[in-house]
This record gives sequence, structure tokens and C-alpha cells, in this order.
Amino acid sequence: MESAKEKLKQEAHLLIFPFPLQGHINTMLRLADALSFAGGLRISFLNTDHNHRLLSFFSPSQYSRFSLRSKFRFLSIPDGLPDDKPRSVNQVIELVISLRTRSMDSFRELLLASGERDPDGWPPVTCFIVDGAMPFFMDTAQALGIPAIVFRTISASSLWVYLHIPHMIEAGELPFSGDADLDEPIKSVPAMESFLRRRDLPSICRQATKAEDEVLQLFANISASATRSKGLILNTSNCLEAPILSQTHSLFPITYAVGPLHSLVESITSSSVSASLLAEDRSVLIWLDAQPDRSVAYVSFGSLAQLTGEEFLEFRHGFVNSGHRFLWVVRPDLVAGGTAAVEMVESEERVRLVAWAPQEEVLRHRAVGCFITHSGWNSTVESAATGVPMVCWPRAWDQLVNSRLVGEVWKVGLDMKDVCRRELVERMVRAAMEGEKAVELRHVAAEMAVEIGRSVGEGGDSRLDFERLVRDILSLSL
Ligand code: UDP
Repeated sequence: MESAKEKLKQEAHLLIFPFPLQGHINTMLRLADALSFAGGLRISFLNTDHNHRLLSFFSPSQYSRFSLRSKFRFLSIPDGLPDDKPRSVNQVIELVISLRTRSMDSFRELLLASGERDPDGWPPVTCFIVDGAMPFFMDTAQALGIPAIVFRTISASSLWVYLHIPHMIEAGELPFSGDADLDEPIKSVPAMESFLRRRDLPSICRQATKAEDEVLQLFANISASATRSKGLILNTSNCLEAPILSQTHSLFPITYAVGPLHSLVESITSSSVSASLLAEDRSVLIWLDAQPDRSVAYVSFGSLAQLTGEEFLEFRHGFVNSGHRFLWVVRPDLVAGGTAAVEMVESEERVRLVAWAPQEEVLRHRAVGCFITHSGWNSTVESAATGVPMVCWPRAWDQLVNSRLVGEVWKVGLDMKDVCRRELVERMVRAAMEGEKAVELRHVAAEMAVEIGRSVGEGGDSRLDFERLVRDILSLSL
């Protein structure tokens, strides 16, 4: 019988496993698309059963597009939660625990079955790209002799901050009390001393009351666990985060900064990928076609963030008072505790509500003048790549770091972190849409978009890192 080693030599087979949330799936599917296009690899893209069902239902065209490729397939395993349980922001920790404890057997079985017992006759998995939010799957794969590369879907800057949690604790900068001055600078995160304040730290830092806080430790450990892998992939580019990337190299000498991945995919394949867990309403593109150039503010708080009814109304008043037009993504679960506030907005003439939009296409539309965003990393790079200025209202996690990059480092937007009052909303929208400030933001944002285009094009930094990644996956598979 042919040995497993000999089989490995036959064909490289890459397994890709994103954390089961929208932003992670989008980014890693884009990477999978680019890798599949590069050729030479078989790719199995692993989802949870729950998301697999949603994606097949809501994104059938994306699913069938991939399924037509002979060397690409989707697989799925259970996430261990009851099917009717929501997988929204309040269940994220529960989801992680469930994946670690209840999905591990299925995952191990899938790896062991690949090769000899594979029902489709595919060769064994030779390399594993795992979402760094789930390092336990990396450990399992490596224990079975399969080399793993970690993909972190957050910014290099956010990762760098998480990695410095122990340093901030040692320096007495963490934890801080609830009444501490949030504008106090943070000094123990190298290369970020000039702009990082307490206010800009990930939300888990504000919530921690003691140095031994479990969530703080968890995030620091998860971030450090990537050092046990064969390399680190980031959805960023030198033109976005060069100073931080030069720091992260000290910990991760093999880093692939291949982003923004949606731009890379477009540059390589001349098409885009976005697999939605909710039904995309494409009629908004027709509505945008009927609007004047740069007259619409696009508003989205991503796939998880929630607003209180009060916050929703403050935004609504601010938007209406600004006199501009709005395209506002209001997911069914966006406003915690009721639909009354949403109903009030539905009758506004200049505000078009949508449950889920084709965001990449919306941001590219000539009618869009600015993006009011929660500063999730995907939304941030999608906006940066199209040169659309941002108004940032980060809600939690790494979003607080990203919005500081946008407002203070890149200067392609305004950061209204922590304050949600109608007067401020109105002022921010006006500043991003009209007058001198808007011209300045647009100019800097347009320059950044050009840099991004260069980076993902032939010979650009991100493209070269991507090509190196392809070569390394092939050589790890030997
Ligand atoms: N997105 C979308 N349609 C929408 C809102 C968001 O396709 O109406 C996509 C967006 O393009 C991005 C992802 O959902 O790729 C959100 O990821 P991000 O990291 O910005 O935020 P998260 O949802 O993880 O908080």
C-alpha cells in the first residue's frame, strides 16, 4: 500500500478554517479564492454546519461559483451549539468554548479521514490555514504532523496591542479604573506611543478590573499562540501598517501581509468574493444609481454590533438634521430591544434602510460620499481601498484601535468614539460630506486607495507576499 508520505508528494491539499463569523468567513474565502486561482493546490474550505447551511441558502451564486472548480470543495463540521441558538455578539465566547470542546472530535476525524478514507478521493491534508482566534485547532493539526499557518483577521496594530497586554500590566497601565482619564497616552506599546490612548485600547482593556482578568489573559495568549505556527497571514499591507509590521516581524519572522484581500482578489481574478450569512439586497444599487455623485452617506455597523434604541435615535436625528441622504444597514438584530425606533426611520424620505447590503459594491459606487462605520477591520480596509472617507463609531474589541488608525494615523476619516449625540453625528457627517474638511479627507483617502492598488498589483508588496505564501504552502506540503 502506498504510504501516506508518498501520497503527500502527489498533491498539495490545503485546509482553510475561518472562525464562524461573517467578517472572518469573508476574508478567508477571499484568500481561498486567490490561492485557488494561483493554481497547484487543492483547497478544502471548512465551515460550521450552521454557517454552511446559511451560506448555501443566502449566497448560492458564490457557492456554486466555487463548487464548479474541481480542486475546491466546501466541508463542514458541527459547532456544538443547538441549531436554533443565535450566534450573535453575546454568544461569541460560548461559541469559542463550544468549538474547543465539542467540535474537536469531528475536526480530528476529518483530518484522519482525509486521504485513504476520503469519500471524494481527495489526498490527505498537507497544510492547514487556521483562523488565529481558534489556536486549539492548530495544535490538533500540528500534533497530527500537518503544518499550520495562522491567519489573523484583525489589523496588525490590534494584534500588536493584544500582544502587549502583559507589558501594559507590568508597566501599571492596565487595568485602569472606571473614572480614569481616557485621554491618557499609553507608553508601553512600541511604535504606537505617539497616538495610542487608553480610549483606543480594545474594549476588553476597559472592562478588566484586575491584572489576572481571564479575558485579558485569554486574548494575550491567543495572540501569542500564533508564534507556534509556521507563519502568520494578515489582511493588511505595508502601505497601511508598515511601522507596526516592522515591529511584528520580531515575533513573527514569517509574516505574509497580503491585504486588503478583496483588492488582491480583484486584481488577480478581476472579480470579487463575498459570502453572506444574510440575504443581500441588491436593489440598493439601483437606488444608488438614481442619486447624485457623492451625495449618500453609507452607514453600517457590521455583522455583530448592536445599538440601544436611544443610540439609534441619536443617529437618526443627526442624519436627518445633516440634510444628506443615507443608505443605512439595519440588520434585524441591530437595535437591541425593539423595532419602534426603526419604524420611525422607515418613513424618512432621505434615509433608505436595508437589512444587508452588497457592501463592497456599495462602497465602490460613485454616489457614496462617506462611510459611517463601526470600524471592523474588513469594513475599514474595504473603505480605504475605495478611497471613501470614514466616520468611525467603534463599538468594541479591536474596532477601537482601528478607528484611531483611521482618524489619527492615516487621516482618512473622523473618529467619534465614545460619544453618540445627535449634534456630534450631524457635525461629523457634514465634515465628511461637505466643505474643506471633506475635500481634504477625500484627497488623502484617494491617495491611500492608489497606494493600496499598487500594493496588490503585479510587483506590489502585498502581491509579492501572496506569491511567497503560495510557494511556502507548496514547500510545506512536500
Ligand atoms: N457586510 C456586508 N453587507 C453589509 C454589512 C457588512 O457585506 O450590509 C460585510 C462587509 O463587507 C465586511 C463584513 O460584512 O466584509 C463585516 O466585517 P467587519 O470586519 O467590518 O465587521 P464585523 O462584522 O466582523 O464586526
